[in-house]
Amino acid sequence: MPPQSAECRRLDALLDRELDGELSREQSEFMRAHLAACGSCRERRAFHSTVRGVIDHALRDEAMPQGMASRMLRRLDEIQDAEEV
Ligand SMILES: [Zn+2]
Repeated sequence: MPPQSAECRRLDALLDRELDGELSREQSEFMRAHLAACGSCRERRAFHSTVRGVIDHALRDEAMPQGMASRMLRRLDEIQDAEEV
């Protein structure tokens, strides 16, 4: 599912930085403005942060919260449905 525009690609590149808390003020302003305007990036960001949460749990060797795996799979389905429009 290729990003739609140069702005979407830029936002993709910033997602990991955001989760690491490494965005500059200008970058976080860009993200806020773009997410307000772009529903598909909102979906990708939500999915990205869910995946990241699961990975962080796995790295800490903690049990996955109940229902997390099925929520992720539902989220994947929603994103795929949205991409098909
Ligand atoms: Zn976008």
